[in-house]
Amino acid sequence: MEKTVVEIRNLTKSFGDLDVLKGVNMDLYKGENLVVLGKSGSGKSVLIKIMVGLLTQDEGTLKVLGHEVKELNSRELNRLRLKIGFSFQASALYDSMTVRENLEFPLVRNVKNLSKGEKDKMVEEVLDGVGLAQTINQMPSELSGGQRKRIGIARTLILKPEIMLYDEPTAGLDPITCRDINNLINQVNEEYHTSSIIITHDLTCAKETGDRMTVLLEGVFGATGRFDEVFEHASDQRIKSFYDYNF
Ligand code: ADP
Ligand code: MG
Repeated sequence: MEKTVVEIRNLTKSFGDLDVLKGVNMDLYKGENLVVLGKSGSGKSVLIKIMVGLLTQDEGTLKVLGHEVKELNSRELNRLRLKIGFSFQASALYDSMTVRENLEFPLVRNVKNLSKGEKDKMVEEVLDGVGLAQTINQMPSELSGGQRKRIGIARTLILKPEIMLYDEPTAGLDPITCRDINNLINQVNEEYHTSSIIITHDLTCAKETGDRMTVLLEGVFGATGRFDEVFEHASDQRIKSFYDYNF
């Protein structure tokens, strides 16, 4: 049976009069790539912020790796966050640090008693994994947008997360770089045995990375399934127009 690593039931979130999430249900199964689609402002980022405890839901439940997130104390929340790799929309690297120093940063902060040799080995392995071994002593400003994105993903992977959350991983990248990042997202799940949620409004990204996808429409998920199930036979006009707009 498929194991569920994230389980969301009847989740709601409002900001004042603005009802953003109106009863969201979602499962992330172990090892899969689940794409969350939705137009700008539909609440995609709010949803993943609730997952990592940066925001709290109003109603409903959200379990990550078996834990109800809103019931965790700050120590438990920190421990859970270490198992979740969060690749932010503007995944900023520290401009004044080399690639090596950027990648070491999460280790220095979160893992005690690592020798320099162990640290170097982990940095070199993860950098090699994203195909950028040669950039280790470079500064972020010397890299392309796509390379910076890959390093940002590597920095998240260095703590060996069980779940990866990608918020708009291909936003602002050219089509070839998008394809690179899509391939990397797929490679990460295979090599690191992660389960991933990919938030995007890029249907090519959705098609190339998603085992399943789900569309956030006016505060609830409108359709969930494989790409062809969701889009190629869509009856909901809002999903149809989402598709037509993208292709
Ligand atoms: P997107 O789907 O583009 O990621 P968001 O999840 O960022 O959208 O935002 C959904 C809606 O919630 C937007 O209207 C946004 O303005 C609003 N919102 C998000 N965070 C907050 C907040 N902390 N306070 C008030 N409103 C917010
Ligand atoms: Mg967003």
